[in-house]
Amino acid sequence: MTQETILPIKHYIGGAFTDGVSGRVFPTVNPATGEVITEVAEGLAEDVDRAVAAARRAFDEGPWPRLKAAERARFLRAIAEGLRRRSAEMAYLESLDTGIPIHQTKGQIERAAQNFDFFAEMAVRITGESYPLDNRFLNYTVRRPVGVAGLITPWNTPLMLETWKIAPCLASGNTCVLKPAEWSPLTAFALSQIIHETELPAGVFNMVNGFGETAGDALVKHPGVQLISFTGETVTGQLIMKNGADTLKRFSMELGGKSPVVVFADADFDRAVDAAIFGLFSLNGERCTAGSRVFVQRDLYDRFVDALASRVRNLRVGDPMDDRTEVGPLIHADHLERVMGYIALGQEEGAKMLVGGARHPGFPRGNYLQPTLFVDVRNDMRIAQEEIFGPVMTVIPFDSEDEALRMANDVKYGLAAYVWTKDLDRANRMALGLEAGMVWVNSQNVRDLRTPFGGSKFSGIGREGGHYSFEFYTELKTIHVALSDHPIPKFGQ
Ligand code: NDP
Repeated sequence: MTQETILPIKHYIGGAFTDGVSGRVFPTVNPATGEVITEVAEGLAEDVDRAVAAARRAFDEGPWPRLKAAERARFLRAIAEGLRRRSAEMAYLESLDTGIPIHQTKGQIERAAQNFDFFAEMAVRITGESYPLDNRFLNYTVRRPVGVAGLITPWNTPLMLETWKIAPCLASGNTCVLKPAEWSPLTAFALSQIIHETELPAGVFNMVNGFGETAGDALVKHPGVQLISFTGETVTGQLIMKNGADTLKRFSMELGGKSPVVVFADADFDRAVDAAIFGLFSLNGERCTAGSRVFVQRDLYDRFVDALASRVRNLRVGDPMDDRTEVGPLIHADHLERVMGYIALGQEEGAKMLVGGARHPGFPRGNYLQPTLFVDVRNDMRIAQEEIFGPVMTVIPFDSEDEALRMANDVKYGLAAYVWTKDLDRANRMALGLEAGMVWVNSQNVRDLRTPFGGSKFSGIGREGGHYSFEFYTELKTIHVALSDHPIPKFGQ
C-alpha cells in the first residue's frame, strides 16, 4: 500500500459506505510531509440523523440485542481476526495519518485486536446479583443493553481508543455511531471495512466522519442517543456534558492529564530513567497518561537530569515509517504551533531549557519538533500545570516525601501517577496519597485489560476497561419477586 492508493474516506451508515448528504469533503494530511493523503466525507447533522436512525432500528427491531451473547462474541472475534489479517496495512495507515512511529503503531494494532478478543470473552460473562430474603422474596439484578451509544474519539492512538469503546459497547448488545477525530480518520474507515466483512447486522456499527463542532455536536444532542463515551480534552468534555444535558445522556469521560513521575533517591536509577523517557516521548508525547512532570529527589537530581538530558538528545527523531524511529512528527501543524507556544512560555516563565526547544532542523517539511527538556521547573509554572501533549518534559526537584506528594497533587488533573522507590512502605503511602485514577509503582505504563482505566479530578468521570465497561454500557435492572403471600396493606377497604 502507498499513500497514492488510499481511497477517499466515506461514512459507514446502515451497513453501507456512503458520501455525506451535503457532498462536502475535507482533507486528511500527512504530518511527516504536509501532503494531502486523501479526502474525507464531512458529516453534518443530517448524516448523524441517518446514522442514529440506522442504529436505532438495529437496536429496536434488529437481532443484535436479542442475539445470544456467544453469537455476539463470534462477531467480535471475527473483527479481531480481520484486524490481525490486515495488521501491516493498519499500522501503515495509523502512522501515515498520525506520525506515530510504525514500531509503536504495530503494537497498538495488536492491542486493538486484543480489545475485541477480550470483550468477546467478557460478553458471555456478564452477571447479575441475587438478594434472597429468607424464603419470602427473591430480588435479583440483570444487566441489559442501553440502546444507541455515541462514541467520540481523539487523534492520539485513534484505532486503539476506538476499539476500546466499540468492543464493550457491542459486546453488551448496544448499537453505536462512532465519530472519529477529524485529523485521523484513516484507520476508523479501514476498521469499518473489516467490520463490514464480518457481516455484522446492518446498523449495529455506524461511523460518521466530520468535525466536533458539527458532527460530534449533533451526536451529543441527538435525542435518539442514550450514551456518550468521550475521550479528549477536558474543555471539550465539559462542553459535551452541557450539550448532552437536555437529552439526559449518560457520559463516560476520559479527559486530559498532567501526570507526575516521582523518583526518590533510592530508586533503581536506570529503570527509572528508562521509564521516564519512554513514558513521555513514546507516541510523540501525545499520550494522555504521559509522565510529563518528573519530580526528582534533590540528592539524585543532578545525576538524574544529566541522564535524562543525554537520552533526550539521543532520541531518534525521524520518518514514522522507519522501524528505528523513536519520535515522529506531531499530528498537525496547528498542534505543533500549540506545543511550540508552550516551549516559548516555559522560557518566559524562567524554566531552564536544557535540550531541544525548536523545530527539528533535519526535516524541512512536516511537523517535526526537537524533543525538549525543561529542568529546574517550579510546580506553579504553566508548563508544569497545563497539558502540553507533545515531546516536552518538565523536571522539578523536591526534598521530602511530603513535599513530593503535595506538589504532585497540586494540579487540576488526576489521570495517572508513577512512583519510583525501593522503600515498600513509602511506595504504598505514595500510591494511596497520590490523587490519580491509576498509579504505577516501579513500573512503566503496563495495563492489564481487566483493570479499570480512568481519571479523577479534571481527568475524567467513570471507569472503562474490564467489567467496569459494562457499568457504563448496560442498564442495571432490579427485579423483585415475591415467593410467598406476604402482607399487603388493604387501603380503602
Ligand atoms: P478534543 O477534545 O479536541 O477532541 C476529541 C474528539 O471530540 C474529536 O473527535 C473532536 O472532533 C470531538 N469534538 C470536539 N468538539 C466537540 C463538540 N463540541 N461536541 C462533540 N464532539 C466534539 O481532543 P483531541 O482530539 O485534541 O485529543 C487530545 C486530548 O485527548 C488530550 O487532552 C488527551 O489528554 C485526551 N486523551 C485522554 C485520554 C484518556 O483516556 N483520559 C486518552 C487519550 C487522549 P475534531 O477531531 O473534529 O476536533
